[in-house]
Amino acid sequence: MLEKKISKQEAKERIEKLRELIDKYRYEYHVHDRSLVSDAVNDSLKRELAELEAAFPEFVTPDSPTQRVGGEPLSEFQKVRHLRPMLSLNDCFTFEELIDWEERLKKLLPNTEWDYYAELKIDGLAISLIYDNGLLVRAATRGDGAIGEDITQNIKTIEAIPLRLRGKAYQKGTIEVRGEVYLPNEEFEKLNQERKKAGLAPFANPRNIAAGSVRQLDPKVTAKRRLSFMAWDLFLEKEVATHAEKHKILEEIGFKVNKNNQRCQNLAEVKKFLDYWQVHREKLPYQIDGAVINVNLERAREALGIVGKAPRGSIAYKFAAKEATSVIREIKLQVGRTGILTPVAELDPVILAGTTVSRATLHNAEEIKKKDIREKDTVIIRKAGDIIPEVVKVILELRPKDAKPFEMPKNCPVCGSKIIRDPDGVYYRCPNKNCFAKRLRMLAHFAGKNGLDIEGLGPKIIEQLFNAGLIRDASDIFELKEGDIEPLERFAEKSAQNLVNAIAARKQVPLWRFLAALGVPHVGGETARALAFFIERKAKLTKSYTPYQLWQALKDWQETDFQEIPEVGPIVAQGIKNFFVDKEIQELLKKLSEVGLKIIKEERKLEINPSVYNKTFVFTGELKQFSREEAKELVRSLGGRPSDSVSSKTDYLVVGEGAGSKLEKAKALNVRLLSEEEFLKLVGRT
Ligand SMILES: [Zn+2]
Repeated sequence: MLEKKISKQEAKERIEKLRELIDKYRYEYHVHDRSLVSDAVNDSLKRELAELEAAFPEFVTPDSPTQRVGGEPLSEFQKVRHLRPMLSLNDCFTFEELIDWEERLKKLLPNTEWDYYAELKIDGLAISLIYDNGLLVRAATRGDGAIGEDITQNIKTIEAIPLRLRGKAYQKGTIEVRGEVYLPNEEFEKLNQERKKAGLAPFANPRNIAAGSVRQLDPKVTAKRRLSFMAWDLFLEKEVATHAEKHKILEEIGFKVNKNNQRCQNLAEVKKFLDYWQVHREKLPYQIDGAVINVNLERAREALGIVGKAPRGSIAYKFAAKEATSVIREIKLQVGRTGILTPVAELDPVILAGTTVSRATLHNAEEIKKKDIREKDTVIIRKAGDIIPEVVKVILELRPKDAKPFEMPKNCPVCGSKIIRDPDGVYYRCPNKNCFAKRLRMLAHFAGKNGLDIEGLGPKIIEQLFNAGLIRDASDIFELKEGDIEPLERFAEKSAQNLVNAIAARKQVPLWRFLAALGVPHVGGETARALAFFIERKAKLTKSYTPYQLWQALKDWQETDFQEIPEVGPIVAQGIKNFFVDKEIQELLKKLSEVGLKIIKEERKLEINPSVYNKTFVFTGELKQFSREEAKELVRSLGGRPSDSVSSKTDYLVVGEGAGSKLEKAKALNVRLLSEEEFLKLVGRT
């Protein structure tokens, strides 16, 4: 849009300013993940630059953003020799191998101390970039390590790679940068969706696309793929003391580096890094296949030298495979606390993600039908995070002729009761309240984190005690003796005593915890607190009372009584009412009273704040000044009601950093939004 004529000098200055600005936006976006302007603004600036350069071609320079695309297709790639060999890394798969590696290094350099620099290893394509006097002049693939292919045209299309280095000190001499070209997961999914729409077969993985795109003869194809780049090595003419320092410089001169990389004092810290990412790698926006552990001290790395084609001072640690195959021996049903029956595949044991696995969840009958999973099938199993593995799919080619489709049994495998199907048809349940497995789950819940939270009484111990016949219902827990527990496997005298003490410490509990532990349907978290607060006020209970006194206080309450609590709707109210009229619950509360359990009324210092009183608050995202629990407690202490979910009854949603779906819902329901600051003002804490 060059409407008015401008002088040559004006054009030159404008062109330079535009270039500088566009590169600043590029740098902030790719290196610091900050968008300073919208894509539209950015495009508009680039368009103006292109038009100016077209009018004044004498001012076009090779580092102009307009020079990223536009090269003509090649007939073949030129071979180029690397300035220094691009080495590969030796792999290892266990922590023991890392210890051996360190021992070998210590023998070679007995008098040197060093730390480590641990990097995530992105699953992409390694390339080398050469900058002469600050300007990108050549990009090459690794090739055989000595000779690679010149892919400069294609690499220029990747915006994460600067065409000119930043910083005055880096505009002289030859600088080499190495790093990984990769396709972010988001782009991979977009690309495959487009292919699906076009009726094409999807790409198998992001790595293949990255490699294929970089080696396109036509740079316009590469440009469309939206590849990214992270730098991991740097060669300057001057010496740099540590590998960590190299990464710092890389960022300064315009490259994206991996923010998750970490300097580690020793191998113990390296292990923490590896353990963390082995589990959390699923959450990364790109694929990694392991980590690279480097001796951080460059002087030591140099001195350690090269063995074969790999440097001694670095090693690649490969994460264990996330998928494996196995054969389903049997499909069994597991009974959950609420009676839901979950089908589970019993497998031939197989090593998956570093541990032996012999079961995989099949989720529900619907899922089995959809994937047509049968006993005797060979299946692909996968582990995501550290949860129970699941069956991805059946390898039909390996199905034996006599494999029959799975049918849901008619009776509960534990107690033999007739199984019923939920109205929506997805879940099956055992309706028998006395079903052993169900009891077991209820006991585990009673003692567990969301119940009385008795230290040392986790699900495994509960099962042991249950199988030994020591506990049948919750009241039995309070009658356990050291002598009963000690003979059990895994228990020594000390730990038996600790457990008995931990149980005794929970003989006095606040009502909300007791209600949550009992497993009143739909009553947990904030609802349990609201219900407890309401009951204690309305029923005029004393400072300390027995579970049976609680039952007596509640036995004549109607559903409408419970509905006075804002958090409680008709369905929840009905659930609570039905729960307390149950004969068995009455019995249990009586027994709990006999073994000495006491409910202690929580003294709450209420300083009523009129703008908070009776208002419902929900929190989302991370707050700076409080933990979530502290913020809720503050609201409670001022007479307000914290809640865990947004509904039409919510008065305020307090929005912290990284807010998610609650924010969307609140907007849809026109709930008032408060920033943390506004919240502080409202509660009078500023
Ligand atoms: Zn049953």
